[in-house]
Amino acid sequence: MNSTHEVFNQPAPLADYNLFETNRPLRDALKFNAPALDTTGLRQLGATLGSGAMQTHARLANVHGPVLHSHDRFGRRVDQVEFHPSYHELMKLATGAGLHGSPWSDEDASPHVRRAAGFMLFTELEPSTLCPISMSYAATPALRGNTAIYADWGPRLASRAYDPELKPWQAKAGLTMGMGMTEKQGGSDVRANTTRAEPAGLDGWGERYAITGHKWFFSAPMCDAFLVLAQTQSGLSCFFLPRVLPDGGLNAIRIQRLKDKLGNKANASSEVEFEGAQAWLVGGEGRGIPQILEMGTMTRLDCALGTSGLMRQALALALNHTSQRKAFGKLLVDQPLMRNVLADLALESEAATALAMRLARAFDRPGDAHEAAMARLLTPVAKFWICKRGSHFAQEAMECLGGNGYVEEGGEGIMARVYREMPLNSIWEGAGNIMALDLLRALRKADAVAALAQELAAAKGAHPALDKLAAALPTRIEEMASEVEARRLAQDVALAVQAALLLQTAPAAVFAAFCDSRLAGNWGQSFGTLGAGTDFDAIIARAMPR
Ligand SMILES: Cc1cc2nc3c(=O)[nH]c(=O)nc-3n(C[C@H](O)[C@H](O)[C@H](O)COP(=O)(O)OP(=O)(O)OC[C@H]3O[C@@H](n4cnc5c(N)ncnc54)[C@H](O)[C@@H]3O)c2cc1C
Repeated sequence: MNSTHEVFNQPAPLADYNLFETNRPLRDALKFNAPALDTTGLRQLGATLGSGAMQTHARLANVHGPVLHSHDRFGRRVDQVEFHPSYHELMKLATGAGLHGSPWSDEDASPHVRRAAGFMLFTELEPSTLCPISMSYAATPALRGNTAIYADWGPRLASRAYDPELKPWQAKAGLTMGMGMTEKQGGSDVRANTTRAEPAGLDGWGERYAITGHKWFFSAPMCDAFLVLAQTQSGLSCFFLPRVLPDGGLNAIRIQRLKDKLGNKANASSEVEFEGAQAWLVGGEGRGIPQILEMGTMTRLDCALGTSGLMRQALALALNHTSQRKAFGKLLVDQPLMRNVLADLALESEAATALAMRLARAFDRPGDAHEAAMARLLTPVAKFWICKRGSHFAQEAMECLGGNGYVEEGGEGIMARVYREMPLNSIWEGAGNIMALDLLRALRKADAVAALAQELAAAKGAHPALDKLAAALPTRIEEMASEVEARRLAQDVALAVQAALLLQTAPAAVFAAFCDSRLAGNWGQSFGTLGAGTDFDAIIARAMPR
């Protein structure tokens, strides 16, 4: 019924643009963290990810979510999860781009930085398919704790082929992995795990166990194998648990049901029971927590990267909308108060990108003592602060779209998906408090405070508020009497590092506005409260997605 009126003053959707080329903050972060990186592949990936065709796959994979088939129609257990074909298209693209495992076998200088940029860009298209991609990437450092299994599985975990078939590992072109720690009685405190592991023999993969118990959150249950925690006589230990056993039989992993989640709709998250499932010990018996935390560290990096990508996507949608929509005689993007909101969001988004990419660089140089210290320190800091800012950010970006922002299908319906996804990276893989407490543990290491000071030294003298914070941090850390201030500390370390990075990666207008607002107090308690002297033009022009 178009006969009553002409549709006008509604924006053209943001589609068919190159996510990489139009993301200036990301490109500058790459120049800083990996100056010699060949970005040809990222440029190609950016064009594919920004295409209308892939946006349709992202929408379909979320609208037609995974379906559990616990039994076949004759009553036999099958424990299969069925996905829409668009889900498989997304998985194929992510795997083909090497976002899952390839950095562990790539031989150039910056494989983790390159992969981090690709992961961040992919998040803008669709974040929930990245759950199994992230876990597959993260599994390698922990899986190396069993050299025989790693020798067999490593090459196919790094393969760029996506193979969703349920087959023994030898018959597959590519493999994926997940993780199982959280049980009903405890997720943060995994020491409360009750799942038991009984010795069941010895073979080419080492000590085999029979695992009995449950996992309350078990995402991507169609992965080829999982690292899980279970109790042995010596305490909590880490196990490799394949879905299909080497002889071709199905392992005893019973999928009870799929979680009905707020967002993250394309990804299947399940509850499972293990009925004497066969698994192999990874790392030392009783050393399960440090062993699986090697996986947790990498997934925490991905939480920071993922939320940075979601922020960029929300900002791009807000800029696209306000650049085309008029109110009160002007484009929204030209209304002074809207410019304050957009510039403030742009600062937050760029600071998140800078910090997440800096953290990724630390994983490219494990042999460098300063980078190792940064990996340990900045992982909880980035995971805590970036993810904590995500939901607030998404709400404000949504509001820039007015009512269209709140509608699932209309206007830029992607915004609703971004908003529902945002809290997740803050909760899983160690919720906010757990990250802040982990920072305190990291700071107990002898070289941690000196490493932080070294990281901030690059910005000495650039802004009085940053100088003041950098000078105060060592004493605050030393004198901190109680963990009750841990969040405050994590926030301030994040802000100081973000400011120091922006000095080195962003134009002066961005650095000055970030320090004036976040560090010097010329700011309010919501976005859009930057001081009147801010260079809004420069900040907004830099963030524009077109
Ligand atoms: C969609 C989704 C998918 C998931 N997929 C997986 C998966 O594949 N594998 C897996 O193992 N897990 C998975 N999880 C579980 C997730 O990692 C946990 O939910 C998370 O670690 C928190 O654990 P919990 O739910 O038991 O909450 P709790 O541990 O009970 O924590 C509740 C709150 O208390 C806080 N808290 C805990 N201890 C302290 C303390 N000492 N001081 C102050 N505050 C504290 C936490 O920060 C949190 O805010 C998934 C979760 C979700 C939502």
